[in-house]
Amino acid sequence: MTAIFANKALLPDGWHDKVRFSIAGGLIEDVEVGATATAEDRAVGCVIPGLCNAHSHAFQRALAGHTEQRSPAGRDNFWTWRERMYELARGIDAATLTAIARQAYCEMLTSGYTAVAEFHYLHRDPKDPDRQDAMLEAIVTAARESGIRLTYVPVLYERAGFDDAAPTSAQGNFAMRVDKFLAHHERASARAGEAISVGIGVHSLRAVSRDSLTEIAGVAADRNIPMHLHIAEQQLEVEQCLEAYGARPVRWLMDNFDVDGQWCLVHATHMDEDETQALAESGAVVALCPSTEANLGDGLFPLHDFLRHGGQIAIGSDSHVSINPFEELRWLEYGQRLATRSRNITSLRDSHVGRELFSRSLEGGALASGQSIVGLQKGAHADLVVLGDDDPMLAGHGDDSRLDALVFSGYPLPVERVMVNGDWQVLDAMHVERDRARWDYAAKLNAFRAAR
Ligand SMILES: [Zn+2]
Repeated sequence: MTAIFANKALLPDGWHDKVRFSIAGGLIEDVEVGATATAEDRAVGCVIPGLCNAHSHAFQRALAGHTEQRSPAGRDNFWTWRERMYELARGIDAATLTAIARQAYCEMLTSGYTAVAEFHYLHRDPKDPDRQDAMLEAIVTAARESGIRLTYVPVLYERAGFDDAAPTSAQGNFAMRVDKFLAHHERASARAGEAISVGIGVHSLRAVSRDSLTEIAGVAADRNIPMHLHIAEQQLEVEQCLEAYGARPVRWLMDNFDVDGQWCLVHATHMDEDETQALAESGAVVALCPSTEANLGDGLFPLHDFLRHGGQIAIGSDSHVSINPFEELRWLEYGQRLATRSRNITSLRDSHVGRELFSRSLEGGALASGQSIVGLQKGAHADLVVLGDDDPMLAGHGDDSRLDALVFSGYPLPVERVMVNGDWQVLDAMHVERDRARWDYAAKLNAFRAAR
């Protein structure tokens, strides 16, 4: 057993002073408030729970900064970005995916994420297409070597669009038949263990048939595992869904499936008022990815209305143009401020916006990753983030505004140490595998670019 003595800690009922966490077998065995430190305790500054990155495509970390040049035609949008993303996806083999995902996961841990839901559809290694589950192996290896808690979410991609039963040639690299996909899911589920769990999902309404969606949602319900899908990210998808199914995407999903707290809908950007209310009342969590949604020009999620109707949110770094949970939360609020020309929008249950955003994303992240215990309490995974309590970002802040400072100050993060499952993965603000991860990432990326 190890013990951590925190000067301050954020527990489910708020901040407390002099908190001792007893940790054994990867779990928090006991939490003692107002404790006295012993010589064996690891004394630290300020402890907060780690957040879950509820939506990640790890391979897209290698695309950051490569799609910001205006094309000659000058009509750059989500769909032209997708072509560039497919180009990358086409060439990524399992060894390269391991290096990219390991680097992304190390960066997540260093910025205060302790868990990730990896929304994965690159099911085939282009170098060795017959090698079964090589890409799953790459993700699992990256998670194990970085130490992040992984919820592997294999998703089905089977067609190009509502009216195209076949995938395009670019999508052919990762498209799969539903029976093969379910066999893959079965094998992946056998890999679940201490720091790995398995969800399931479909890429989007346009990418799978209604029958396949029904089958996969049935597996999620039977096994009580998170069910993820992208939905209504782009206006064009809304128009295509209206034409093919006679309803807007979220409306159609709500009318045809038992959407509940097991479901994680990613983006849900384009909803009318009825859809917003229905989705909020369903108990489903929406994974919002503000830095990616801004980068891709998706649009703005109706956040205030959704929360007003009791909706639940998680955050994700999606395409990884940024890996910083506090920046995601900041831009989530800033988007609403810019649109409404007002301030402090995400304040429905707490007058402090940073505190409310943090607690909502902690709760939503647990839902999206299938964790039943939320926050730092007895029985929870020992996944925690240590902030330097002498960091300038936190200086002068008390219990009320400490999380506001963390969310709304765009300075270097005061993350000093990060523990997952009882093991330190970040020490002195540096991931313990940082050098190896960087070296392998740079080597694989340079080789990848040189080969093109
Ligand atoms: Zn996504």
